[in-house]
Amino acid sequence: MPDNWWEKPLRMIRRDYIGNFSPFLEANLNELAAETKRVWKANCEWLMATPGCAPGTGYLTTFNSEKFEKLPGLGHRDLLREYMPVAKKHGIFVIAYINMHWYSYEFAEKNPGWEQICEDGIAYGRKHPLYGNGTTFCVNSPWRNWAFEMIEEVMKTGVDGCFLDGPVVYPGACYCQHCRNKFKELTGEEKLPSFLDWSNPSWKKFAEFRSQSWADFMKDATDTAKKINQNAVMFLNGGAFSASNIMLGYDAGRMEKFQTFTGAEDFFHCTDFYRSPYTSLNLSRFLSAGKNPSVVLTHHCLSTWHYVPLPAGELSTALAQATAGGSNTWFAVFFPAFEKTKKYATGGLKTARLIEKAEKYIEKSQSCAETGVLISNKTLYYYLSSHKGLCYEPGSGKEQGLIMDTGSNITGDIKKQREICEGILDNENHGCLDFCNFAHIPVRVIWDEYLNEELLKNLKLLILPNSACLSEKQIETIMNFVNCGGVVLCDFESGMYDDYGNALERKKWLDFLGIEKIYGVFRPSRIEDYFVLTEKIGEIDKDIFIPRPVNALAIKANADAQIIAKYLHPINFAYTQPRGISEYPAILISKRGKGKVIYFASPVFESYNKFRIDMHKKLMLYLIKKCVLGGLQIETNAPGTIAIEIRKNQKAVCVHIVNVTSEMKRPMDTVLPLHNIEIAVRTHLGKATVLSSGKPLKVKRKRGRLVFTVPEIRDYEIIVLSP
Ligand SMILES: [Zn+2]
Repeated sequence: MPDNWWEKPLRMIRRDYIGNFSPFLEANLNELAAETKRVWKANCEWLMATPGCAPGTGYLTTFNSEKFEKLPGLGHRDLLREYMPVAKKHGIFVIAYINMHWYSYEFAEKNPGWEQICEDGIAYGRKHPLYGNGTTFCVNSPWRNWAFEMIEEVMKTGVDGCFLDGPVVYPGACYCQHCRNKFKELTGEEKLPSFLDWSNPSWKKFAEFRSQSWADFMKDATDTAKKINQNAVMFLNGGAFSASNIMLGYDAGRMEKFQTFTGAEDFFHCTDFYRSPYTSLNLSRFLSAGKNPSVVLTHHCLSTWHYVPLPAGELSTALAQATAGGSNTWFAVFFPAFEKTKKYATGGLKTARLIEKAEKYIEKSQSCAETGVLISNKTLYYYLSSHKGLCYEPGSGKEQGLIMDTGSNITGDIKKQREICEGILDNENHGCLDFCNFAHIPVRVIWDEYLNEELLKNLKLLILPNSACLSEKQIETIMNFVNCGGVVLCDFESGMYDDYGNALERKKWLDFLGIEKIYGVFRPSRIEDYFVLTEKIGEIDKDIFIPRPVNALAIKANADAQIIAKYLHPINFAYTQPRGISEYPAILISKRGKGKVIYFASPVFESYNKFRIDMHKKLMLYLIKKCVLGGLQIETNAPGTIAIEIRKNQKAVCVHIVNVTSEMKRPMDTVLPLHNIEIAVRTHLGKATVLSSGKPLKVKRKRGRLVFTVPEIRDYEIIVLSP
């Protein structure tokens, strides 16, 4: 039985004509397909079936259909049917892009009852015009049948599958009659709760209903496409890991059964705040944690200036990071200005060539990281801390003109409390993955669905970044993992709520973490508050002041827990003498069965993501080294601007090295090569070969590790390990 084509490594591109298809209509299609292969190194191309451009042209087609109106200006031309045979000749798979979220007001008026409606009865797209102009439809309205008919017509052109850009379940929606009826049918409840009304128990039911409605739509959409072509691929822009997932109904685990790929965007945006250099890698790891092949979507343009290509370093690293994290690559290039700037834009394609060369090694590869990070979607959905003391804005700590911003109280309603919890979660998840990147810890992401014994048996360390909302089954699985010799590093309120966000007295779990009692929270602070170690750990001496993470629980330790660090008495004023060490422990280590639990009473990854203090990174690294049997999976002299992942398939084990050493800013233009980087990998394998040059490396064996020195690392390198 031959493998399915979509399980092979795919390098996807989309040429984006933004409503003016003349470059395509005038092109020699044979040359276009040849360019897809030769220049862009792609083997899968997206073609617009319904364009996504102003003023909401999702109802117009670029192909001939008796059922739908065609985009003006195309005449008798049929983009899909014309390009399909040419693409096939060049071995390119074609996926039709169908815009399913952006429609003109004019089209909406012809179809009353289709729009998504907010609680006040006004259509979402009238209150928030999409991209400045246009509206959007509801998955539970009769629009769904219109949408399935569109999918059917698209599939009849012979394309290999469809990407649905939308539908999106927009924040604040949908309160249309169809949704009201369906909600009543499912729950028996007459009334829909107010949006984000966390004090109303029906809100969580509504949240479940919204994401289930979205998944139901996708199920029927996929069934429709498969009626035309059993091998059709179907997927949508499925969202990543963010505390805003609940607003949009995003749930990668719920959706994966109904789509072929799990994909999400990591478009580069110019911002006035810090942006991690590893966003594509983190997203790629998250997306590839499911059962489907995954894809990270990259715009080949400079943020909101779509007619300027992405700087070379950014395109290159986006492709490298998607691949290293186990996902396929995708990028869109924009016409017309793109043609004029193409010569500047091909810098990132060195990396595309390496990825093409790596095909046989990345096909169906799996992470062999010994560290897992749980990114809990249930926690992202439902975490709402029961500690109201978290509602304090700690201020920027900035001192200017003899005025210092030391923070202020928030008279918070329940929505504000949830916002604060969202901030903690987003910083925790990203901070945790970035800690692993900067500390060279290869890591695999775990979804709630797949936290099981089968997966954990390959791990030595499991990290729970404030994974607050866990089911009984998950708690049991984690405890078993430790009893059998695993190490858990968890922080703050991990496991203190059930998977629906209800606070619990989980005595057994608290015991397991080494906690006898929780008194409450310290006031959030980023000024003059510290903790100290009770003994020297690694290179950090006892009693050295270490900045306290912004948030902290005041707890009492169990008698059998080893107290590794204690908080100082809180100060929270600048230029004030320290007030001595408190009795409240900051870090505990407890032996449980054959394994250990490292517990931080603070959400330490939140602070790492906000402030990137190396002392926090080093301390965590030393604790992991101390507790995990056999130490770290990778040891290296590389700076933190190199991230390392290990993946394997039937052909080989590969060490993926992503280099983001750059000009200390984003966008990155030039990535600076690094030289003579020594890497020691725990493996029984005995040979190491540089993929880009094909040259073998000199190796030696040391304490169960294969040690080699890579003479030069440019943007991306893969070291192939073999027996
Ligand atoms: Zn609706």
